[in-house]
Amino acid sequence: MATRVVLGIILAGGLASAGTEDPTARAARVHQAAIVVDTHEDVPEALEEKWGAYANWHDLGEPGATKHWDIARARQGGLTAPFFAVYVPASYAEKGGSARYALELSDMVDGIVARHPAEFAAAASVEEIRRAKRDGRMAILKGIEGGHAIEDSMGALRNFYRLGVRYMTLTHTNTNHWADSAGNFFAPDYDPARFQVHHGLNDFGRAVVREMNRLGMMVDVSHVSEETVDDVLEASRAPVFASHSSCRALSDMPRNLTDDQIKRIAARGGVVMINVSSTFLDQANVDLVKGAMDRIRPEYLRLKEVYKDDPKRRQEEQDKLQKSIPERKPTDWTKAVDHIEHVIKIAGVDAVGLGTDFDGIPDPPAGLEDVSRLPRITEELLRRGHSEEDVRKVLGENFLRFFSKVEEVSRSLSSEPPSLAALAPAP
Ligand SMILES: [Zn+2]
Repeated sequence: MATRVVLGIILAGGLASAGTEDPTARAARVHQAAIVVDTHEDVPEALEEKWGAYANWHDLGEPGATKHWDIARARQGGLTAPFFAVYVPASYAEKGGSARYALELSDMVDGIVARHPAEFAAAASVEEIRRAKRDGRMAILKGIEGGHAIEDSMGALRNFYRLGVRYMTLTHTNTNHWADSAGNFFAPDYDPARFQVHHGLNDFGRAVVREMNRLGMMVDVSHVSEETVDDVLEASRAPVFASHSSCRALSDMPRNLTDDQIKRIAARGGVVMINVSSTFLDQANVDLVKGAMDRIRPEYLRLKEVYKDDPKRRQEEQDKLQKSIPERKPTDWTKAVDHIEHVIKIAGVDAVGLGTDFDGIPDPPAGLEDVSRLPRITEELLRRGHSEEDVRKVLGENFLRFFSKVEEVSRSLSSEPPSLAALAPAP
């Protein structure tokens, strides 16, 4: 105790001693000073679903603007730099218009920023994130979710970069023309084999990854198949990351990463950003989903057959069936910290960050219901004995180090000409 008092005196006027400081006050101090990055928030999708059109969809100042997000709650959460997902549903890959939809959501994000210039700053680099923090603003960044958004066009990819898009999740739940997806685990007829079309990336997919490296666009392996992760790690000249995936060792579902994948991503300087969905975090919910899918599968397949010529009715009937599934239970929020610690344990403290998937998940944990609750993660990490420096790494510095490296690789490739690769016509 005497030592602590002496320390307290030495540090008086500057940082308080960790020994004498109230844990909540300490957590608040660390969290407020830190750069807090969340690499996946589906705020644009939530606004689009709520308003369905352009009207009002820019205003995040409204309390309760979306289920998990508004300016006041984001401030309370100490958020510095959210990536808003330019998420293009798989359905666009079939009906067309993927690039147009991505352009509209990108425009929406610009509108969100423009509406609150005192609160938000558009950002597309590490420096712009740090500057926003210094200016007391929130840096808003864009990431495309679903590689079909580029409609197999390198020109489109480059134009999305020009619009400020700084990462692309190579697939969503659909395998596209150049990369295999892990598929849709939540569908009753889920069969991962159906998504293995290219067995990873094809030549054009490899060219997309290399062009992203040249541009300085981060390559995101959330949602892709295991073979695609392997191919991306081989093809990429920069480190890669998972923008919103957790640990399969703790919750065994295809959207989470195996220990081996986490180690390989980390070994190349990448990061794994933890998704806080109660299913991604908790095996009990995975088991519940699997059990429910097994139960409804026969009826689901029957409806698929009966209404094969009436897609609208088929969808209605299948939606009704899906509603009969018991609700997934919100897990305890500290499980998110268990996943963070799992990555630290197997791959080191430089390998992990936050990619909550707020507004994209139906089942946030109890105690981590929305973006306002992020400071609890800081408090819990400190309580479990992690140093303040390590907590800052998890909150944002790991991601910024990774992003810097991607920027550096891009600069080193500045003499390389733009890719002229095109998708080979189907045989
Ligand atoms: Zn996603």
